[in-house]
Amino acid sequence: MDIEKTIRAVQEALGVEVDGKAGPQTWSAIATRIVPDQVPTLESATSPDLDTRSKTNIDTLLPEVRPYAIALIQKAALNGIKIKIISGLRTYAEQDALYAKGRPDNPPKVTNAKGGQSNHNFGIAFDVGVFEGNAYLTDSPKYKAVGALGMDLGLDWGGNWKTFKDEPHFQLRPTWANGMPEKEMLAELRQRKEDGKDVFV
Ligand SMILES: [Zn+2]
Repeated sequence: MDIEKTIRAVQEALGVEVDGKAGPQTWSAIATRIVPDQVPTLESATSPDLDTRSKTNIDTLLPEVRPYAIALIQKAALNGIKIKIISGLRTYAEQDALYAKGRPDNPPKVTNAKGGQSNHNFGIAFDVGVFEGNAYLTDSPKYKAVGALGMDLGLDWGGNWKTFKDEPHFQLRPTWANGMPEKEMLAELRQRKEDGKDVFV
């Protein structure tokens, strides 16, 4: 089976842009068709098929990001990998509390980002956990596989970061931030939040 042909056919049927590259809508349609009883559709993030933990965290994300998180769960499932969304939005205060962990002198540190310095503070980032049955795996080669699936959807993957690799981490980069260094994007995100401006406009 030529996967690109299949994707094109699905996109035509959906009436979305036909480019042979599957985004969240296309993946959702494929997943729903292949394993209809096991996967939630994009329209029903409230689907009982979506585990409670993922659902709770997905609900904290910006509406533009939610379909990507759901599509990633579906796409991973189609590849035999069970993931849950284990973290979504963090307030500045929650981020500061996380930053304080392990500091000043009680390692391990959890993060180098204070409030306003993490993409999690703006509803565009989420972390996944890989599961085998009910067991949460903190370390598994499957994270790399999920990373590839996420990038295929158009998400930024933390496993690509040079200084601090973060394989469970994904984020949806706004188009205005294409090619922008992370620091600059965060500065603009802080500004937009302060101004009450939309992230994705
Ligand atoms: Zn993260």
